[in-house]
Amino acid sequence: GVVSSAVIEIPSQSNVECRIPAVVGGALEVPLVTGGRIGYANLDHAASAPCLESVQTAVNELLPWYASVHRGAGFASQVCTRVYEEARGKLLDFVGARRTDSVIFTRNTTDSLNLLGRALPRGTSVVVFDTEHHAALLPWTGPRVRRLPAPETPAGAVAALDAALADCPEGPRLAVITGASNVTGELWPVADLARVARRRGARTVLDAAQLAPHRPVRITELDVDYVAISGHKLYAPFGAGALVGRADWLNAAEPYLAGGGATRLVQEASVSWTTGPERHEAGSPNTVGVHALARACETLAANWTHVVEHEESLLHRLRAGLRDVPGLRELCLFDADHDRVGVVSFTVDGRDPGLLAAALSAEHGIGVRDGLFCAHVATRRLLSRAGSDSDRAVRVSVGLGTTNEQVDRFVNALRWLVTQGP
Ligand code: PLP
Repeated sequence: GVVSSAVIEIPSQSNVECRIPAVVGGALEVPLVTGGRIGYANLDHAASAPCLESVQTAVNELLPWYASVHRGAGFASQVCTRVYEEARGKLLDFVGARRTDSVIFTRNTTDSLNLLGRALPRGTSVVVFDTEHHAALLPWTGPRVRRLPAPETPAGAVAALDAALADCPEGPRLAVITGASNVTGELWPVADLARVARRRGARTVLDAAQLAPHRPVRITELDVDYVAISGHKLYAPFGAGALVGRADWLNAAEPYLAGGGATRLVQEASVSWTTGPERHEAGSPNTVGVHALARACETLAANWTHVVEHEESLLHRLRAGLRDVPGLRELCLFDADHDRVGVVSFTVDGRDPGLLAAALSAEHGIGVRDGLFCAHVATRRLLSRAGSDSDRAVRVSVGLGTTNEQVDRFVNALRWLVTQGP
């Protein structure tokens, strides 16, 4: 357990058995409109991933000890404080950060990027591709925000960023980079983008919401300045996320939230704020969520080879199956062979994406998503590039817990709906 009566002991995953990490909920069944029940195929990992078994265990171990952090003298408070603070180190390890980087716990990637947006020094120029997820597109406001149109190639993205940064006025600069697209799964050339940003005197923030669950992210190797992640996409659906990165701008900024825990001293007419991560974490934090996130990070880090192999094999099977669906157009930003994580968005000529997604759920027990995926500009542009007759798409996404049977069921169901359906 997390605790023995005499010693506070936090279990670590360091000697975990190496394997494809298991998730909970594999045996769930759902009703079909046609009658009967079927095993649920959750093919919407890009929205939220299921809970890892190791995460469930970690949460169960902590729950009996649940108490306030930082301010309690009681034993349970000490346990929770230690769990919470040790999680920062686990997050640093997971994203390969510099030891001097700050780990600020947030609700999710959106929260992390908004926090950074508020912490930018006055007059910071921000360059962002307009194809980003809204979480990475919208937190930057003011006259010094420059939006770049979707590039055609990875090299085009690097050249466009370079030119935009060269054009920025004097002063601090930030380039916003996405690790993997939530629409196409394609990987962006993060290290190359970070290199040109560095050369142009800009800092970089990596939206790793979609990359971190599928591939190792190493801040120091990529040479980015900040990374934002979401626990619920990392198989830890307990409401925690993180912003990891350089401490100086964060320590100089106004606190993200005003309240208890972020203060050094409050007097009748003045307040002095603390520095360090607590500056932006006012209020009682999500200790359970943070513990869950840290355990998910440890589990993935111990098993990357298995995770990546499993997902690549699923993705290969999925895309091979989709090739036989008549009229199917896959959305691609770069090209069909570009490296990607297990996310595929598509339309089928003459078919309504919403109806396809609804039929997959009701008639086949398969959960996918349809729409514009909180990336309206990106998805519309990709639909038009693909020559699609639709203004929305279907997205299917795989990960841990996905089986070959689920992928085959999805492909067969889609083929059936497209060829036999009304
Ligand atoms: N960035 C990308 C690439 C995403 O896919 C998502 C979620 O869909 C986000 C950011 C926002 O994540 P959250 O909703 O957890 O804040």
